[in-house]
Parts: sequence; structure tokens; C-alpha cells
Amino acid sequence: MSGNIERVLVTGGAGFIGSHLVDRLIDRGAHVICLDNLLTGAMGNVAHLARHPRFEFLQRDVCEPLDLQVDAIYNLACPASPVQYQRDPVRTTKTAVLGALNMLELARRNTCPILQASTSEVYGDPLVHPQDESYSGNVNCTGPRSCYDEGKRCAETLFFDYRRQYGLAVKVARIFNTYGPRMQRDDGRVVSNFITQALVGAPIQLYGNGSQTRSFCYVDDLVEGLLRLMATPEEFTGPVNLGNAAEISISALAERVLSLTGSASPLQNSPLPTDDPRRRMPNLALAEQALGWRAAMPLDKGLMHTIDYFSRQPVA
Ligand code: NAD
Ligand code: UDP
Repeated sequence: MSGNIERVLVTGGAGFIGSHLVDRLIDRGAHVICLDNLLTGAMGNVAHLARHPRFEFLQRDVCEPLDLQVDAIYNLACPASPVQYQRDPVRTTKTAVLGALNMLELARRNTCPILQASTSEVYGDPLVHPQDESYSGNVNCTGPRSCYDEGKRCAETLFFDYRRQYGLAVKVARIFNTYGPRMQRDDGRVVSNFITQALVGAPIQLYGNGSQTRSFCYVDDLVEGLLRLMATPEEFTGPVNLGNAAEISISALAERVLSLTGSASPLQNSPLPTDDPRRRMPNLALAEQALGWRAAMPLDKGLMHTIDYFSRQPVA
């Protein structure tokens, strides 16, 4: 610590979730070092902090080793949208695995806690519903999603081995689908796609018949969960699910977006991507018990905040 000010590293800090986390940490009085290579993030997400005395930006790749003095690390650097992480799958695996390794080494040198942004994708196309943390998953290790799913699974392995082998204070959050302001318009995920299409009156692209389900968590809720996880006693490592337990089909999500935007966009079906999980919904008992946390934002209200945000963005 320099004086009484905590120095916190956020990798992926210019991304969607990372930039909201950075804001909360700055509000709490931390000195934040935001590391990002801007692959899927944007300087615009942190532009309001550019002159802040407790904000630093490092344009770097997590795959490169790093030496810094820090008191805590949040490791979020990794593309999260299937479209983005499949663009350069080898790089995605490297980011997930080498990024985790480099940040764990940094945490070890600093003897500081480190939190990993893991994912519900470690459950793959789950055969258990809802998914709790003891479920070891149904992941295809050779498919187009594997670079992300297996990369994140290997990162979790590294986190727990650093705990067992070196006694490092690790925290693993399994994040379920999260949405909100600062998703990139061309990110490719369902909420940003549907809102963008609805606002310009373009057809809403439903992959498959839209019967597959997800559970959508608003970004402010998720960030609160990450902060609470980092604040748990050292013995608590997770993994812990963070998300919203309200399951909705993708076709029902499309109807919500059309109704909230007042759009007349037609629905259009296109092929379901390979290995697209059919159902996903978190069991949140552990998050409630260990963190005293549950997602509070109702879907319609969270979607309205996100629609307002996209409506204010200049059209490309
Ligand atoms: P995002 O794509 O908006 O943010 C990822 C950030 O990481 C971007 O700013 C990107 O530029 C940066 N990045 C990517 N590769 C990098 C590298 N090699 N070096 C440095 N920076 C790099 O995605 P997000 O939704 O904000 O996701 C953040 C984290 O949360 C990711 O690790 C993701 O796997 C995890 N997560 C997100 C969700 C979700 O629904 N949003 C769900 C599960 C897990
Ligand atoms: N999806 C869709 N239309 C889109 C984008 C996604 O129907 O424009 C579907 C996708 O096939 C998946 C769900 O919405 O079933 C969530 O996709 P997303 O890429 O947001 O996240 P995932 O949970 O698949 O990682």
C-alpha cells in the first residue's frame, strides 16, 4: 500500500464489466491500475477517468509478464462474446491461460489476493439444471467454444493449484450472462445485438428457434458481487456462481426488447451456433450464504437502462 491508499490492478479494465468495476473501486478510494490491450474494450469506457489522480492506464497484453506493486488483482482480461473469442481462438486460449499464470505470479510476488473472472461456460452445455458449483460440467474440448471454455477451466485449475501449492489468497467467480451499458455495439452478444437491431428497425436475429435459455444479470449487481467476493476471508476461495436466477428463453428476451423499445423489427431465424448451450441458470445458494448477495435489478428495468445507453450512442 502507498500510504493508506490501496493499489488495485484490474486487467480488462477498459472492457464492459471491468470499466464498471474500476468506477466502483475509484469511488471507494482505491488507486486503480487498469491494464487492457483494447482488443474488445474501448478507451471511451474509462475516458471520464483519464485525468483522475488515482487512475492509471496500461495498454498491455496480459500474456506478457508484468512487475508492479499492488495490493489486490482482479483478472478480467479476456474477450467474452462468442463472436469475439472465436475470431482468434489460439489467442483466446493464450489470454485465458497465460494471462492467469502471469497474474497469479504477480499476486505471488506481492503476496496479495487475486480474483478470477471465470464463467458459467465452465459448465458447457449443462446436463444439470440449475447449475451449482459442484457440477463439473459438460464441455466439448474440440469445438469452436472450447478455446474460451477450456481456457477458463484451465485458468481455474491454475488458481486452485496456486492456492494449494503456494497458499495464495485466490477467489474464483463463475459469472453468468451479464449485460448493461458499455457493451460494445458490435460485441455480438445477444442483449447488445437485439437492442441495436430494435433501435434501427433491423430484423432481430434469433439463432435457432429461440427456445434456448439464459439468465441475465445487470452489471451493477455483478460488480457488487465481485467486490463482496474479494472482501471475504482468505479461506473462502469459491468457486462461486454470480448471476441472476431469472431464466428466460431467447425468444422471450427478443419480445421484451421489442416491447421496451416500441420497435416494429421483425424476428428472423438463423442457424444455431455449434455447441450453443440449451439451458443456463445459476444456483445462487452459495453466493447468498457466503457473500450475502443476490442480484436485485429486474430484467425490464436493467434493459431500459441499457436501451437508454445505446440510444445515446452515436450511430456508426
Ligand atoms: P469485454 O470483452 O467487454 O472485456 C474484456 C476486456 O479484456 C476488454 O477490454 C479487452 O480489450 C481486454 N482484453 C482481452 N484480451 C486481453 C489481453 N490479452 N490482454 C489485455 N487485455 C485484454 O468482456 P466483459 O463482458 O467485460 O468480460 C470481462 C470478464 O468477465 C472476462 O474475463 C469474461 O470472460 C468474464 N465473463 C463475462 C461474462 C459476461 O456475461 N459479460 C460472463 C462470464 C464471464
Ligand atoms: N443469440 C441470438 N441472437 C444473437 C446473439 C445471440 O439468438 O444475435 C443467442 C445465442 O445463440 C445464445 C444466446 O443468444 O443462445 C446468448 O448468446 P450470447 O452470445 O449473448 O452469450 P452465450 O451465453 O452464448 O455466451
